[in-house]
Amino acid sequence: MPQKTRKTTTADAVRLTGLTKRFGAVTAVDGVDLGIDKGEVVALLGPNGAGKSTTIDLLLGLARPDAGTVTVYDLPPDRAVAAGRVGAMLQSGGLLPDLTVGEMVTLAASLYRTHRPVPEVLERAGLDDLSKRRVGRLSGGQRQRVRFAMALVADPDLIVLDEPTTGLDVEARRAFWTAMRAETAKGRTVLFATHYLDEADAYADRVVLMRQGQVIADGSPAHVKSLVSGRTIRATVPGAHLAELAGLPGVDRAETRGSTVLLTCTDSDAALRALLTRTQARDVEVSAHGLEDAFLALTAGGTR
Ligand code: ADP
Ligand code: MG
Repeated sequence: MPQKTRKTTTADAVRLTGLTKRFGAVTAVDGVDLGIDKGEVVALLGPNGAGKSTTIDLLLGLARPDAGTVTVYDLPPDRAVAAGRVGAMLQSGGLLPDLTVGEMVTLAASLYRTHRPVPEVLERAGLDDLSKRRVGRLSGGQRQRVRFAMALVADPDLIVLDEPTTGLDVEARRAFWTAMRAETAKGRTVLFATHYLDEADAYADRVVLMRQGQVIADGSPAHVKSLVSGRTIRATVPGAHLAELAGLPGVDRAETRGSTVLLTCTDSDAALRALLTRTQARDVEVSAHGLEDAFLALTAGGTR
């Protein structure tokens, strides 16, 4: 669905232009153009392998692009990070199991010329009772909170979070986002990667949907939800070509499922009319799908 990339007016926090990264035959990030304004809370949404982490690594200067450019506050990413303007919470690594929580966050703070008081950051991350606990003895949710505290300690303008709640239970996810909300209320810019549509919907002002290294939709959560919450039509269509079906009005994608075809629709009424008047379709079924199913359908690849 060639949904045009949303135009931003300034892109004064982050600007990615033609960003491309390959790993051998895989193009992990494929010509991404993305601008983020100061104060925006942006979800980078996509299934596993969409290129979210690679985009974040490029944005933080942890990997070098094969083509394209990254600027963060008009600086090359490594300089923006070194200046303490960016705090990142990555999916793994970065924690030393033998340190206590307080020591770990203090160490992270020591990397910056100026930083927030460590006790304040521990409290903000919900870690004040755990400051003497060894990192190696923490639960998954507690560990994520340590990563969060480390991302906050430099008092960054931009916070980048790569799937911050993956592996957490519902309670821990909610607690995490409550703490996050308190931080973003101060007008910080946030970019977080997630594969949970509900999380993008609940916590972002703007959703950038990625698939196979490309941005395929960019807009408000309501807009992206409307794109992914269409209906599917299943039918037997003798003699039909997938490309022809994919070109029918209201049809976004066409795939074969055994002897039937599955049409993912943006407008199932229009699609149904076209299917019944222009083809030999029979055994037609229309179903609405849940958001998560729809999201998977939209992002799974197939003939368009
Ligand atoms: P996501 O974070 O959305 O799950 P990634 O950015 O991790 O996606 O991966 C995008 C694609 O690039 C995937 O196909 C992945 O297998 C590939 N990839 C990522 N990192 C590497 C790497 N270091 N070496 C080889 N392939 C990689
Ligand atoms: Mg990832």
